[in-house]
Amino acid sequence: MIVGIDLGTTNSLVAVFEDGKPHIIENRHGERLTPSVVAVDESGEVLIGKVAREYSLIHPERSATVFKRFMGTEKEYLLGGHRFKPEDLSSLILRSLKEDAEQYLGCPVDEAVISVPAYFDDDRRKATQLAGRLAGLKVERIISEPTAAAITYGLYDKQESTRFLVFDLGGGTFDVSILELFDTILEVRAVAGDNYLGGENFTEIMEKALYEKLGREKDSLDIRQQAAVLDAAEEMKLALSEEAEHTVSVRLGEEETSLTMTVSEYEKQCEELLEKLREPLQRSIHDAHVRVSDIDQVVLVGGATRMPMVRSFIARLFHKFPDTSVHPDEAVALGAAIQAAMKERSREVKEVILTDVCGFTLGTEVSVDRMDGSQEAGHFSPIIERNTVIPASRTERYYTAHDDQDKVTVRVYQGESRLVRNNLFLGELTVDVPRAPRGEEAIDVTFTYDINAILEVEVKVVSTGEEKSRIFRGRYNQMTDEEIAARMKELAYLKIGPRDQAENKLLLVRAEKAYEEAMGGDRTMIAQCVRAFEEALDSRDREKILDTRRDLVELINAIKL
Ligand code: AMP
Repeated sequence: MIVGIDLGTTNSLVAVFEDGKPHIIENRHGERLTPSVVAVDESGEVLIGKVAREYSLIHPERSATVFKRFMGTEKEYLLGGHRFKPEDLSSLILRSLKEDAEQYLGCPVDEAVISVPAYFDDDRRKATQLAGRLAGLKVERIISEPTAAAITYGLYDKQESTRFLVFDLGGGTFDVSILELFDTILEVRAVAGDNYLGGENFTEIMEKALYEKLGREKDSLDIRQQAAVLDAAEEMKLALSEEAEHTVSVRLGEEETSLTMTVSEYEKQCEELLEKLREPLQRSIHDAHVRVSDIDQVVLVGGATRMPMVRSFIARLFHKFPDTSVHPDEAVALGAAIQAAMKERSREVKEVILTDVCGFTLGTEVSVDRMDGSQEAGHFSPIIERNTVIPASRTERYYTAHDDQDKVTVRVYQGESRLVRNNLFLGELTVDVPRAPRGEEAIDVTFTYDINAILEVEVKVVSTGEEKSRIFRGRYNQMTDEEIAARMKELAYLKIGPRDQAENKLLLVRAEKAYEEAMGGDRTMIAQCVRAFEEALDSRDREKILDTRRDLVELINAIKL
C-alpha cells in the first residue's frame, strides 16, 4: 500500500486514497496533525509527535523541533545522550505515521510519496528519501508541496483550464508556485520561495513583543521560562487569527503576569515581515511570464495562511480572495495521496500528467575578460536556468582561456549568484584539449536534468570529438545500503513507547507539566494521582488503569479551571 505524507516543519500528516478520494488518516490520539517533534525523556524513552510536543514545553533541552529546516545538512542534535541527524528525527516521525496508517488500513504500508518544499535542493530531497528508508518506507517519488496542493485543487476543479498560484506559508518555509492545469496536464510554470521565512518568524515577532510587555530580557530567563514565553507567544499568535484582542498569562517562577495584545498592534509589528512575502511572489510571476490578472485562483497552503493579515495582504495584491475550499493544513497531504494512487495506477483517479520545473539555476564556472585584458575567474555561467521545465537538456559552448591550455575543468554549480563562490558546488569534470592559442579550442557542455533531480553533465571536445560525462547527485553524502541498514539497526535500539500506550504517556507528561505549574495542596494531589496511575499501568489491570486515568484527567482539568 502506498500512502501520501506531508512531512512538515511543524506538523506532519499521512493520507490515503480510498473509495475514489483522498483522506487524512488520524493518528493514535485521534488527531489529523502529528507535531514534527521528537524528544527523549529521563528514562531514555523516545517520544514522538504530540507527546513530544507536550514534553518539549517542560524540557526543551531534551526535545527537537523544526529540524526539517536542517535536512541535508551536517547539523546534529544531542537528545538524552543520543545523537540524531535531522534525517533520523524525520524518520521517527515517518515511522509513527506509518504505524498509524497501518493500524487504520489493517495492512502493511511499505511505500510513500513524500512532499517537500519546491525550493528544497537536491541534498534536501535526498535527505528526505533517506529518512523514508530509515523508517522502512520505499520513497521513489518525492513531490513538491505546491504541486501536491494544486493536484488536490485540480481534482475538484471543474473548469477546463486554470492557472493557480499556490501560496504556501508553513512553519519554516515560504513557497510560491504558479501552475497551470489544462485538461489532464498540470504544468508547473514557476517556483520561488524563501527557505527561512514562515510562521515561526511571526511567532518570533510576537515573542519579542511579549518580552517588551514583560519588561524582561530573554537572556535573563532560564530555559524553561523562555519556553513558557515562547508558548505564550504561539498561543497569542493563534488566538489573534480568531479574535481582535487576546490575553495570555505567563508564569515566570512564582510570578504570573497577564499580557494583552490587539490584532492591529500585532499587524503593525509584522509589516516588515509581510513585505518579505512580496519578493518571491513577484519573482514567480515574472518567471512564469504572466500578469497578476492572469492568475485565476490563489490557493492557500500551510498553517500560517490562517492569519487574517496574510489573507488580506493576498487580497490586496491579487484583487481577489484566496480559495480555501480545501483545508490549508491538509491540501498537500491529500495531493501526495492522489499522487500515490496515480503511482499505483488506481483506476479511480484520472492520471494527471505532471510537468515540473527546476527550482534553481545550474551552470558552470567561467573566467571573464577584465578591462586590462587579464582574466577573472569565479563567474557563474548559467546553463539550465531556474524554472526551466524538466526534464531539460541544454548545451553551451565554451572556449579555452589561455594559450597552450591542455585541460579544461568544468566546475558545476547550483544557485542564482553571479559569482560561483556564493553558489553550491556540485562537482567537476576535466577533459584534455589539444594545445592551441587561447580561444581556438572549444568544448560543448551539455547539462541534462531529469524529473528525479539527477543532473548529467556531458563535455565534448569539439575538435577531437572526445566525450566525457558524469552524473551529479548533489553534495549530499549518500549512504550505502549497508550504512543505511546499520543506521536502521541503531535506531531500532531506541526505546520507543508502544503505540497503544501513547495516550497514557501523554497524560503523564501533562501531569508533570501541571505539577510544575501548581503549588501546595494541588501538587500533593497530582503526585498522589500520578503514583496511583503509574501503579495501575504496572499492574496492567484494565479497570484500575481506566479508573486512575479518569481521576488524573479530572484533577488536571479541575486545577486548570
Ligand atoms: P505548517 O508547517 O503548515 O503546519 O504551518 C505551521 C505554522 O502555521 C506554525 O508556525 C503555526 O504557528 C502556524 N499556524 C497554524 N495555525 C495558525 C493560526 N490559526 N494562526 C496563525 N498561525 C497559525
